[in-house]
Amino acid sequence: MEDCIFCKIVNADIPSFTVYQDNDTLAFLDINPDTRGHTLVIPKKHAENITDMDDRDIAFVFRTVRKVVRGLQAAIEPEGFNLVVNHGEVAGQIIPHFHCHIIPRNTGDGIEYKSGGSTLSTQELEELAVKVAEHIH
Ligand code: AMP
Ligand code: ZN
Repeated sequence: MEDCIFCKIVNADIPSFTVYQDNDTLAFLDINPDTRGHTLVIPKKHAENITDMDDRDIAFVFRTVRKVVRGLQAAIEPEGFNLVVNHGEVAGQIIPHFHCHIIPRNTGDGIEYKSGGSTLSTQELEELAVKVAEHIH
């Protein structure tokens, strides 16, 4: 993908603060970090999102996520992490090359990830689970 900024980073056409790479994945510091140590993990092979990736790359990316989490834990000792994947523009995906954010977290760091904003009845949850399950192979 010629115009993809993360492909350009993979090809070293633009620089990055790389913390780890192997044949299939690359991990580098986010240039506009939510917190200190905010890192992105990407597959080297271009894929817009998880539905475009093969099993191998998904496994390799999350193996690298584990390596980076362990590295950040040892290096900067945060209390926890958010592992975040924004899928689609509406969800905040700006760069259309799959990336997993690894965001070190500490008490009082001011980052807020809100959830639990919608309520469904037990019946709605039951029906929804059946409907979704029917579409998962
Ligand atoms: P998203 O909103 O999930 O697509 O996240 C894109 C992320 O990429 C943002 O957190 C940006 O700060 C980060 N980013 C954009 N360009 C670069 C770059 N050249 N090097 C490192 N991180 C970048
Ligand atoms: Zn790309």
